[in-house]
Amino acid sequence: MTAQKTIFHIDFDSFFASVEQQNSKALRNRPMGVTAANGRTCIIASSIEAKRLGIKTGTRTYEAKRLCPSIIFTPAHFREYLEVSKKFLNICKDYSPFVELFSIDEVFMDISLTEHLFKDKYEIVTLIKKRIREEIGEYITASFGISHNKLLAKLASGLNKPNGIAEITPETIDKVYSKIKLTDICGIGERVKERLNKIRVFSPLDLRKVSKERLILEFGQDRASFLKNVSYGIDNSKVIPYTFSIAVKSVGRNYCLPQNEYNKRILFQTIYELCEEIGIKLRKLDRKARTIGISLRGNINFKKQKTFLKHINTGKDLFYACKDILENELSFEKEFTKESYIRKLSIWTGNLTEKNMSKQLDLFSTSSKTDSLTETIDKINNRFGDHTIRNGFLLYSRKLTTEPNGYMADRYERSLISNM
Ligand SMILES: [Mg+2]
Repeated sequence: MTAQKTIFHIDFDSFFASVEQQNSKALRNRPMGVTAANGRTCIIASSIEAKRLGIKTGTRTYEAKRLCPSIIFTPAHFREYLEVSKKFLNICKDYSPFVELFSIDEVFMDISLTEHLFKDKYEIVTLIKKRIREEIGEYITASFGISHNKLLAKLASGLNKPNGIAEITPETIDKVYSKIKLTDICGIGERVKERLNKIRVFSPLDLRKVSKERLILEFGQDRASFLKNVSYGIDNSKVIPYTFSIAVKSVGRNYCLPQNEYNKRILFQTIYELCEEIGIKLRKLDRKARTIGISLRGNINFKKQKTFLKHINTGKDLFYACKDILENELSFEKEFTKESYIRKLSIWTGNLTEKNMSKQLDLFSTSSKTDSLTETIDKINNRFGDHTIRNGFLLYSRKLTTEPNGYMADRYERSLISNM
């Protein structure tokens, strides 16, 4: 039998709200909500004080005002949250090389191989908590879940929030399972719960009793195996260190226009902006793309991708590639009439060169002048923020921002962290 592992799941408490409260004394000890920087109608995170009043993620701002007229709202600052995440990862990796970034405010750690260097696992918890206080801020706390696998460690971290520690051992699984809801388990969402209810499974222990065959009928082989394992607290997945580089296979961006856009010039300006942004991402990742795709959706739809001979990574080249697709492949000029409008734009790139290969390609390129100009622009934009220097064509167009989305869904954001 292999030795039992020791896995931590560490989850910050009310993360976005705590970071805001850490940074501004005026927000501390009071109900407050973080809203998205644009479209401030919905709360994306609320402080512990607001949660006590029933104000949580997803609550509408007018509803929150009704529940608590003195509530304060502040727009999200994703870049700062990302900085806190990075600091936190740097702390964790002093205690184990196996640290997995699960979301912007959650990590898994496998301390099986390093635990013996300390008094015990609880000493590691105490040390990390102390360093969060000292290096990140006294107002930011995290809850720790300890168990022998990721599934149970994640379940444990939710048992004693905020600023808690909880452990689930093979002996205590049943006791914990008798108290929790199906949806407390990572991997069981509302929809799966409803389908389980239909076959008379209402709790994790019911899930253990239902036959595997019945589950296969309802969910198919894979999901049935997962659910059956979950019912016994079995999970064999590994903690994957964030330093393992993530293969970036494509870079792109979706953008919803603020209104139905009938104006062709504005559409092209927005396409240019998005191309500039994708160019910046590609260059930061040291990649060039050969396949470009574009999709425009509204009351008339366009979608096509095309693979070019040359590898490109500047906004200008990407824009001309999009223009080529729209004009030559999709006859956009003819199809897009006075009554046409577009609401959503997507641009993506693929067929990316491997890291460092884009530099080698440049040896054979004749466009060294363009490259050094792009490099200078990148340097300035790195210092003063993306889109500081923009093409003349964009002079009067909206500035789009390249905010991280906070959920680490974007491989680009993850790769920035793993390449720190
Ligand atoms: Mg959290």
